[in-house]
Amino acid sequence: MAVAESPAPESVEIDRNTGVASFVWADGPAQFSLEDLRGNCPCAECRGLRERGLPVWPKPSSPLPLKLESAELVGGWGISFSWNDGHATGIYSWSVLRAWVGLESDDSV
Ligand SMILES: [Zn+2]
Repeated sequence: MAVAESPAPESVEIDRNTGVASFVWADGPAQFSLEDLRGNCPCAECRGLRERGLPVWPKPSSPLPLKLESAELVGGWGISFSWNDGHATGIYSWSVLRAWVGLESDDSV
């Protein structure tokens, strides 16, 4: 799987009270709600659910509200989140996050 070369953000801030994740790149900021990030989780399991039209989050067993347990930078190309529903397999690459808010990536088509 090819990983796009996208610059790392200059800052990453996650406000657990408001549930907003803020990223700042040299060419622009991006903000995501935790619900949006969880619902668009890029892991294979969640992609499969979306392809079948099934809910990624919340599921009947999901604890509400959604909370972030931890966040970890991944090899300089993305960030992974551990959620309070136990899900932690999604890695959000910088290129995907940038694409969601319309910032350009080197490999954008
Ligand atoms: Zn997932």
